[in-house]
This record gives sequence, C-alpha cells and structure tokens, in this order.
Amino acid sequence: MPAEIIDGRAVAKRLQGEIGKAVVDFENETGFVPGLGVVLVGDDAASAMYVRMKRRACERVGIHSKAEILPASATQAEVENAVRSYNADPSIHGILVQLPMPDHIDEEAVLNEVSLAKDVDGIHPMNLGRLGMRGREPSFTPATPTGVMALINETGAQVEGAEAVVIGRSNIVGLPVALMLTNANATVTICHSRTRDLPAVVKRGDIVVAAVGRAEFVKGDWLKPGAVVIDVGSNSVPDANSEKGYRYVGDVDYAAALAVAGHITKVPGGVGPMTITMLLANTLKAARS
Ligand code: NAP
Repeated sequence: MPAEIIDGRAVAKRLQGEIGKAVVDFENETGFVPGLGVVLVGDDAASAMYVRMKRRACERVGIHSKAEILPASATQAEVENAVRSYNADPSIHGILVQLPMPDHIDEEAVLNEVSLAKDVDGIHPMNLGRLGMRGREPSFTPATPTGVMALINETGAQVEGAEAVVIGRSNIVGLPVALMLTNANATVTICHSRTRDLPAVVKRGDIVVAAVGRAEFVKGDWLKPGAVVIDVGSNSVPDANSEKGYRYVGDVDYAAALAVAGHITKVPGGVGPMTITMLLANTLKAARS
C-alpha cells in the first residue's frame, strides 16, 4: 500500500485560518495588531521571493508587516541598525533576518542583535541553547523545525520512544529538529556528511527527517517499511517540460519512498508552507507575551 501523503498545504491552510481568528481576537482585546519586521539585504531572487511570500502570508492572517530592504552594498552597521530600529519599534513584535546575507556581512553579529523577545525565527543562540538544555524553555522555536514537528504530529505517530533519524545538522533545520525530537522523547540519531553507512542508519528510523540539500538523495530502499518521512529539502532540478525550465524536488526519492514509507511529505507542498505558518504563529505569540 502506498504511503499516506502528509499534505503540508492543507495543514498550513487550517492553521493559518486559526491564526487569523486569533489575530482578530487579539486586536479586539488589545486594540493593536501583531507586527513582523523583515530585514533583507541584497538582491538574491530567492530571498526576495521568500520575503514577498511572508508579506502575503502576514496579510492573509491580518498581521502587520514591514520590510527593511537594504542594497547588497549595505554595511554591517547599517544592517545591525535596521535590526535595532525594529527592536525599538513597539509596532513590531517579531523580527526576521532573511538569510543568507552577502559575504561581507557577519550574520552571527546581526542575529545577536535581535531582541530575544522578538526572535520569532528562534535562531538566536540563547533560544537554540535553551532548546537543547533540560529544564529550559526557549522563547521561540525555529519555524521550519516547528513545522516538521507539527507534520509528524499530524500523522498520529507515537514520537515517544520512536527511533528518529535526522539527516543534516544545520543550525536552522537539522540540529533544532533533532533537539525537538529529543525533547519529545524520541531516540535520535543525527547524520551528516561523515556518517558511515548512511543507508543502514536511516533504516533504523521510525521517523526520518531529511534536511540535506541534495536532490532525491535518500533512496526508497534505505527506509524502514512504514516510516514517517519528512522531506525538508527544496532543490531545483532542470525540467524541459516545465515552463520555467526547472522544478523543485526534495531530498528524498519521492516515487520510490512512496512505496515503502507509512507517511510522507511532498515537495513542494510539504514542509515549505508550514515554515511560513510557524513564523506567523511565533509573531502572534510574541505580540501576546
Ligand atoms: P545545509 O546548511 O547545507 O546543511 C546540510 C546538511 O546535510 C549538513 O549538515 C551536511 O553535513 C549534510 N549533508 C550533506 N551531504 C551529506 C551526505 N552526503 N550525507 C549525509 N549528510 C550530508 O542545509 P539546510 O539549510 O539545513 O537545508 C537543507 C535543505 O532544506 C535544503 O534543500 C534547503 O533548501 C531546505 N530548506 C527548506 C526549508 C523549507 O521551509 N522548506 C527551510 C530551510 C531549508 P555536514 O554538517 O557534515 O556538512
């Protein structure tokens, strides 16, 4: 039997509907709307597209958004000042620094400027540190990993005690996903480019999260039958049949995995829509706190 598809678009739509209602209630109670401030530096087309998507999502749920768009030549001080002005702006409750930044910008220094109370992207070292420490609560958890956890929960799979395999250990996806799965009492294995015999390790996973950045890298026969497979990857590959000449595929060989997995996300339409939704949820949370 083919795997059940976890429809990230449908889950995101439902959650955004709930966030929209909560924003109206919040406005009725307090007289103001939650606000998100975005900092974008340079003219990277993909980053500009993500910022537009975030603005439109904010509009859909009634969150006020501002974007500070700086040229690629912006100095470190100018970028940090943009963050500081959002820190001081009472109409802005959440700040998102769109990454990557141009090479001459020290990203870590910029991210360190984000007020903890407004770190709706959840990647301030203090929030990530708290995520990894027992008995500590981060103010916010990062959007993509939080979306991954929500999709796993949608399947009804038991996370507690499950073997979870996370492929990738980046600061924004792999590492926080692994920490969140650990906090949910899964037994977690983190894989990376130096992992030996990756197929054998992946085979152990009742839950597999792929965040590698390589098209169709995880093969169907690596998977344990019935596994929950969450594909975070978003890779453009040439496609002569597409108008644009390319299409997006995940890090998992979807067609092969479909025949083995119990539940699986699609790319596009899986984790992507959840990332924006979790950013909206965090912005509402920031306004409430
Ligand atoms: P990243 O920073 O490049 O990290 C990739 C990870 O994969 C690294 O930890 C790397 O290991 C590991 N890796 C690379 N080659 C490997 C191999 N042969 N075997 C095992 N592990 C290997 O990427 P990222 O930012 O986490 O993003 C991962 C993917 O998710 C990308 O496709 C990205 O576009 C996508 N993404 C999607 C969303 C969304 O909202 N849908 C959000 C963020 C990212 P090392 O640490 O050893 O180098």
